[in-house]
Amino acid sequence: MKSVTIPPGLEIVSGEKIGRDPRGMSAPELEALGHSSSSVLGAVRAKCLDCCAAQLAEVRKCTATACALWPLRMGTNPLNRRTLTEQQREALRERAGAARAAKATA
Ligand code: SF4
Repeated sequence: MKSVTIPPGLEIVSGEKIGRDPRGMSAPELEALGHSSSSVLGAVRAKCLDCCAAQLAEVRKCTATACALWPLRMGTNPLNRRTLTEQQREALRERAGAARAAKATA
């Protein structure tokens, strides 16, 4: 019987070569395929740059508003934008100030 070499990241199911379920793969296996532990938004941004031949301006100007990645293409999620009260803003400012002060003394 002829042996078949299965590329990493793929598997044979019912005689068909398919992609492995990444949920069952280890981090080293995924890294061996060139994937990093970047954020989901980073992955979206990378996909959009790939889609636009690495042209930042073209990602910005993308007109494919029906694409599922379109609102996320700039690397942020405007759908999760929160409306903060002045009290919440002040609390965030204080926390950021404390973090900066702690970093400066470290
Ligand atoms: S949002 Fe635009 S740039 Fe990003 S993948 Fe979709 S079509 Fe391509």
